[in-house]
Amino acid sequence: MNLILVGPPGAGKGTQAAAIVAAIGVPHVSTGDIIREAIKRNTPLGREFKNYADAGLLVPDDLVNSLVTNRLACPDCDQGFLLDGYPRTLDQACALDFVLERRGRLVDHVLLIEVPDPVLIERITGRRTDPETGRIYHLRFDPPPESVAARLTQRADDTESVLARRLSEYHRSTDGMVPHYAQMNVLRRIDGVGSVDDVRRRTLDVVRAASAHSPVVAHAARAFS
Ligand code: AMP
Repeated sequence: MNLILVGPPGAGKGTQAAAIVAAIGVPHVSTGDIIREAIKRNTPLGREFKNYADAGLLVPDDLVNSLVTNRLACPDCDQGFLLDGYPRTLDQACALDFVLERRGRLVDHVLLIEVPDPVLIERITGRRTDPETGRIYHLRFDPPPESVAARLTQRADDTESVLARRLSEYHRSTDGMVPHYAQMNVLRRIDGVGSVDDVRRRTLDVVRAASAHSPVVAHAARAFS
């Protein structure tokens, strides 16, 4: 089953991606992870990615498209994949359609985790990290003990002004892509408000319902439930 996971910063995509791949046994293909790994290994492509990442910019479509094309050609993606962080724009979505069609495949489902901006802002701007232990707290939902409160730090991109920019960038790019998948009748909206467990349950319900129509994955999903 060929899946795409879409959601704004703070939607808990990483957690849901882990639950989905554990449930149906497809590889998790995260463009952010691939790009970070290339930067860390200092490959020629990684050095190019770094210029964009350092400037807080999206990597150009042709680079990210060929990166995904190569990754999806790997044998572990033969029975399906979960794409995360890609496509991010309508142009990338069209490029993916083209690549899949050439291989006689299609996007089966696009899982869109929806969370209103004010909820995301509260979730993200309340996050604090304990630099000594690495433990992440939330000022309201998971308050720190008084003994560590004074030393907690906030990630630079978790501040309200940076987050506002990330969210408007997310909406600008995603809002162009969502109608494309709605028209293809593959868009599955998931309510992302609530606890991590609630959202995980809703996400897996959608994936299981979808996998009931996919014989290979239905077997794996039944084994998991
Ligand atoms: P992420 O972890 O998905 O937020 O990705 C981290 C960074 O990798 C982004 O800020 C972009 O610079 C780059 N990146 C990841 N996916 C894409 C994509 N589909 N298109 C362009 N740039 C991307």
